[in-house]
Amino acid sequence: MSIHILDAHELAAKVLQEEISAKDVVSFFLERISKINPALNAFVYTNEASALSQASQVDVRKRQGEKMPLAGVPIAVKDVISVKDYQITCGSKILRGYIAPYDATVVERLKKAGAIIIGITNTDEFAMGSSTENSAYGPTHNPWSCTRVPGGSSGGSAVAVASGLSPVALGTDTGGSVRLPAAFTGVFGLKPTYGAVSRYGLIAYSNSLEQIGVFARSVKDLALVYSVISGADTRDGTTQNFGWDLFSCMGNSIENWKIGIVKETLAEGVDVSVQDALRDCSSYLERLGASVEEVSIKHIPFSLAAYYLIAMSEASSNLARFDGVRYGEHTSFEEEWNVEFSKVRSLFGLEVKRRILLGAYSLSAGYYEMFYEKAARFRSLISEEFKEAFKQFDVLLTPTSPTPPFRLGEKLQDPLMMYLSDIHTVPVNLAGLPALNLPVKIVQHDGELLPVGVQAIAPYGRDDKLFTLASALEKSAFIKKRIVEPWGRIVWTN
Ligand code: GLN
Repeated sequence: MSIHILDAHELAAKVLQEEISAKDVVSFFLERISKINPALNAFVYTNEASALSQASQVDVRKRQGEKMPLAGVPIAVKDVISVKDYQITCGSKILRGYIAPYDATVVERLKKAGAIIIGITNTDEFAMGSSTENSAYGPTHNPWSCTRVPGGSSGGSAVAVASGLSPVALGTDTGGSVRLPAAFTGVFGLKPTYGAVSRYGLIAYSNSLEQIGVFARSVKDLALVYSVISGADTRDGTTQNFGWDLFSCMGNSIENWKIGIVKETLAEGVDVSVQDALRDCSSYLERLGASVEEVSIKHIPFSLAAYYLIAMSEASSNLARFDGVRYGEHTSFEEEWNVEFSKVRSLFGLEVKRRILLGAYSLSAGYYEMFYEKAARFRSLISEEFKEAFKQFDVLLTPTSPTPPFRLGEKLQDPLMMYLSDIHTVPVNLAGLPALNLPVKIVQHDGELLPVGVQAIAPYGRDDKLFTLASALEKSAFIKKRIVEPWGRIVWTN
């Protein structure tokens, strides 16, 4: 049997029972990546020697009797998270050749749990984008259709999991970059409560919005990785322990749960296939004993504007460190500092430059109150509205994306259209809430079979509710497990 169709927990069990060695698992996946990745461009860097040596160490630890929840499990990591001795570039020319000198906290925890960093995945430059087309390495392709985007910015990680190049992966979600590509490729994608996962070692885009999140093809795998990476970290002062037990809550029933469909997210512009998927999902939840009702979150339509103001403002400040002195490619400093500085900064792509300019503008004297401060005040308003809704509802549902995956190039010339892809995901980041893409359906769209997702949102710190809901849908086979080979050949795995 080919091991790429196994879930992470099944692989770990086989390694722990010595049915297969971690080294064989890793060699298998490295070979699969070298065969399939050229068509998809999901991985931008692998370090075979390091991956194999991590695997040998896991095999030794196993023989010494160490219990490792992720023994020998390959994990793909987005090109913005530091992995010691791996090239990490944020999909940008400016970081060409940068080798991370240390592990991010999440990576350190994964290695301790026996996971192997199988490779680094493609991203929109500095995680700015919704399609994984703004990358110095070129676009990643959606395995469902070679002409479509995988969503972004963590498109490489989503594709790696969807097409069986790695059972699980890490991405980052500042405004939807885990949930959107998860929806576009048909896998689970979790954006944790703000502060549940350490950002130490993550190259910052917008600190107050982003979290490292997880891609998986099963709820159990999602829980396995999430329970390893989450929890307080002294190196990130925003982190805390939430104390949930994801494994026990997965068996719970959702009978008598109250589920709210956010009315404003079904307004015009949402494709019929997406509306149908949400409707099917809610009727199924009713069959499982939950009640479903519409709820209004009145100010949600203003979220996109507030999100982009805050994200760009923080980005303009975070990206100041790429000056060729502290970080970023630096050749020689022969001319005046300003001239050299602009040479280095010209290595940024267009979208990144646009955001630095707009962000600096919104923070500048005279405009700060009009833009940044207003957006910051809006955050409290939207958080309050969510809080109010959660007094009545256990979870809220919205489409993850207004449309199924769009075509490569379709929105590249029109940044506003591209930003609109995040319309349903950004309110969650403004409020710091946990949310999950549920890969509910494969639909026929424009003559192609394409995945469509539904977003479940839980109250602050109640990520466990997302696991209860998702596992109820998975157990009753409303959500089916699958791997997709390029282009669109589906292998069902349950
Ligand atoms: N597409 C959004 C942006 O460009 C979200 C990005 C993300 O979540 N990293 O800001």
